[in-house]
Amino acid sequence: MRRGTLGLMPRFFKNRVFLLIVVCSLALELVFGFFVYHFAVQSEQESLVIRAQSVAAVFDSREIEQLRGDESDLQNPAYASIKQKLIRIGHVDTDVTSVYVTGYRNGEIFFYADSVDNHEVGEATPGLSYPEATPLFKSVFTEGRSILEGPLADRWGTWVSGIAPIVDGQTNRVVASIGLDIDASVYRLGVATKTLIPILLLGVILLLVLIFYGQYEKKKETLALKAKFISIASHELRSPVAGIVWACQSLLKRGATQLDPSVAKTVSLIEQTGHRVISSVGDIMNLSALENVDPGKIAYEQVNMTVLLADIIESLALVTAEHRIKIRFDARWPGKLELECDREKCKRIFSNVITNALKYSRPDSQIVLGHESKGGMRIISVKDNGIGIPLAEQANIFRGDFRASNALAAHVAGSGFGLHFVKELVEAQGGKIWFESEINVGTTFFVALRG
Ligand code: ADP
Repeated sequence: MRRGTLGLMPRFFKNRVFLLIVVCSLALELVFGFFVYHFAVQSEQESLVIRAQSVAAVFDSREIEQLRGDESDLQNPAYASIKQKLIRIGHVDTDVTSVYVTGYRNGEIFFYADSVDNHEVGEATPGLSYPEATPLFKSVFTEGRSILEGPLADRWGTWVSGIAPIVDGQTNRVVASIGLDIDASVYRLGVATKTLIPILLLGVILLLVLIFYGQYEKKKETLALKAKFISIASHELRSPVAGIVWACQSLLKRGATQLDPSVAKTVSLIEQTGHRVISSVGDIMNLSALENVDPGKIAYEQVNMTVLLADIIESLALVTAEHRIKIRFDARWPGKLELECDREKCKRIFSNVITNALKYSRPDSQIVLGHESKGGMRIISVKDNGIGIPLAEQANIFRGDFRASNALAAHVAGSGFGLHFVKELVEAQGGKIWFESEINVGTTFFVALRG
């Protein structure tokens, strides 16, 4: 790797958790591959042995006992019958290259018959001895058990063989054995397929996990960067706004008798708004936005929501007057609505939602605050008749780095960050936030808090 390339890698590649997941995934693949391979080998072998046993069951030991195990068998009708059966089985089991009946005498294995057509190349004639037979093969006769051999090479090729005994039911003697040969390459292909498919599937799943984790880390990184910028911007904002508040206060003090009452009211509103900006800025800085708000740090108290919301409406009076927008409580709003919640956080939540309603409303319209109780929750709604949110973009609204296309097109100022923050504040209090919106008709945000 060239020097300096590491610095260009996304930070999450250097993230220890990411590296740990990569290493664990590789280790898991290796261990899983090892077990799957053994399982595949075992299952291929077992299936071949079982097939040999089922073929052995088809043969009658008495018919085989009529054979002598030499060229004279070619005239024997029992040989013709056995040969026909073997040829038929060879045609049915297409992956099997050869099926054969062998016998055992004087410590040697020899052929009775096989599935190769009469007089074709490779046919094992009756009595042909098989000196390549291993002790394991011979144990089929000496111990009467079924075995799997191979891959082993003999004069015909390289094979994996399933061999099962044919036993005389009365004397329990092993009269002959049935062998099924599969070409070693076919056997290896079977094992490879059974091994690779699950390994590939697991690999794809692990890769997807890594991709999702990478994306999640990248998003976290971007949001953290954004939060840092917001924090710096907040610092920069605090001092000038504090200056404006201070100037308003001194104006109000000095001009208590000299100022026109309407001017004094406006200056006082500017002062209140300044205070609100300073407190919001403080909130943003304190909570460093992207870290989850710690539910343990919620300062629960009995809050009169009617007063809290009225204060917010009052602080927005200048803007609402300028845009001729009326913010009002629904006719069914209860006079006093008390909730057990964190006052400062609720102020921040509803300031944001109501300010959004105002920002995205058209002049000469109304914003209505509603309330209903459902399932032990108090739901406060903020309904506007503004630009709405395009359906396809609604899923992104709480993402934290998203602004809808129509909001951007309308050149309404904003960061796309507020609702992400609001959602965290609502959920930290055990609440829920959601919305319904139709483009060019309006939007209603619902905030459900415990009553
Ligand atoms: P912003 O600072 O952009 O308003 P928010 O996080 O508060 O950031 O809102 C995210 C986006 O949601 C906004 O950019 C806007 O596209 C959309 N949005 C929020 N509230 C409304 C609303 N009342 N009407 C229409 N769009 C809204």
